[in-house]
Amino acid sequence: MPNTLSETINKKLLEKLNLAFINVDSDMRVVQTSGNLAQYGYDEVAVGDDVTEHVDFLVGIDSDQALTLPVLASPAGMPVSVNLMPESGQLTVVIADAKDQFDLQQMLQQKANENQLLMEKQRKLLAQLHSAQTQLKEKNKKLEEASRLQSGFLSGVSHEFRTPLSAIIGYAELIQQDKSKEHNQGTLELKHNVEPIRRAGNHLLTLVENLLDHGRLDAGEIVINPKPVQVIALLKDVEQMMQPLARAKHIDLVFNDDIDPGHWAYIDESRLHQCLINLVGNAIKFTDSGSVVVTSYCDADILRVLIQDTGIGIAPEDLAKIRLPFWQASDTGKVGTGLGLSITERIIEVMGGSLSISSEIGVGTEVTMELSAPQTGEADEQMPVVKCEFDQKLSILLAEDDYDIAQLVVLLLEEANADVTHVENGELAVKAMRRQDFDLVLMDINMPVMNGYEAIKIVRGEGNEVPIIVMTASVIEADREQAQQLGCDGYLCKPVDVIDIVAIADQVLPRS
Ligand code: ADP
Repeated sequence: MPNTLSETINKKLLEKLNLAFINVDSDMRVVQTSGNLAQYGYDEVAVGDDVTEHVDFLVGIDSDQALTLPVLASPAGMPVSVNLMPESGQLTVVIADAKDQFDLQQMLQQKANENQLLMEKQRKLLAQLHSAQTQLKEKNKKLEEASRLQSGFLSGVSHEFRTPLSAIIGYAELIQQDKSKEHNQGTLELKHNVEPIRRAGNHLLTLVENLLDHGRLDAGEIVINPKPVQVIALLKDVEQMMQPLARAKHIDLVFNDDIDPGHWAYIDESRLHQCLINLVGNAIKFTDSGSVVVTSYCDADILRVLIQDTGIGIAPEDLAKIRLPFWQASDTGKVGTGLGLSITERIIEVMGGSLSISSEIGVGTEVTMELSAPQTGEADEQMPVVKCEFDQKLSILLAEDDYDIAQLVVLLLEEANADVTHVENGELAVKAMRRQDFDLVLMDINMPVMNGYEAIKIVRGEGNEVPIIVMTASVIEADREQAQQLGCDGYLCKPVDVIDIVAIADQVLPRS
């Protein structure tokens, strides 16, 4: 019976360790055994036996060797720890239960394995992330390239379209404005028949402009140029432009407003004009009977325009889609590209506004446009006087390679009081400017032999300061900048009409 606390503790510890002892002599023969050998599977160990026949981990061990062997498996499959304690020519082999140690080791191993797995997972995820990032970069690059190509393509296409369109619209207008010939039945009919050509040409031009705007909006290249605008005048102008369309369809177009003529607001006039024409144009296009009512309000800083029509309406499931570029309801039977609304909405957003649409099929559509239009004082600048003729006879050099356009511009300029010398490329233009002093030069850019830029560079290099106006089908901003850097005095985009040329000539010619 243990009688002290330390004896009790020792006993408990020994019980827990569940020790077994084998004493061997210097030849490793068993001298004595004690403790719970059977539990570990060493029950066959008998006095006089060579201990290494039963306990294989003692093979090769000397009897005078002190050693601690960590967790081993006993013959009974139990985890044991073994201590070899040499003393007085004998060796005591102490075998102890190492289950706790073993469990701890197992747990640590398990944790290490789990850690390893987690690290492996982390490594894989990082690799995936890296590869996704690379793919994304690659895709971004491709998208940027595609967008650049699209922009370039759109500008190119627009250029190709604008040049022949200039000729179509210009000649049609020329025939309609012809005052010199007698108005016999033939010429009246001709003028009448030319109207659809002019209208179709203008329609095509609008489509080209829409495609260009679509590309510019995608590339974030739409620039808003606000200036003081008399709001009521702008609305009246839209009304005047759209009335003939409504009349042709026998529907009422009503403009209601309560806007003071003294209300001027700071907005981009041409962009707002474009948006209103698109929205009112749609209302008229999709209304076959009834009316289109345009109601406008101006608060201090907000312009609100409500366009209500009694047209075919839009199905609820289509309402979200109509704002997508190129989307059109399938059964309207109307001509269009599906670009107008998407462009309008995006331009309004760029101008700090919003568009909301509600509609009921068979009843009509209501579009509300809200726009930031800070009120401002009246514009200082005088409204430009529209003139179709130069104040005095001018000698003009025209460098233009397209024969039809050149003929048209020569005719228009001659009617506007000018003597025109026409050349077909930049080299001939340089020669002509060396030979003769002109009042004004109109220079195309894309020409064979020598382009307009090179020609301008040469004559400016020679000190010639004649006013030069670039006249091109290119609408790329970089072209305009280059023209400015080379010392051009003006830039006109085709199709140009004589009013534009006279107006810009007025600005650049020295006052007499
Ligand atoms: P487009 O008029 O060239 O077809 P839009 O982008 O202006 O292209 O309009 C897209 C579509 O939205 C139209 O094709 C039409 O289906 C629908 N839509 C637009 N405005 C109206 C309207 N006022 N009434 C009915 N449908 C409309």
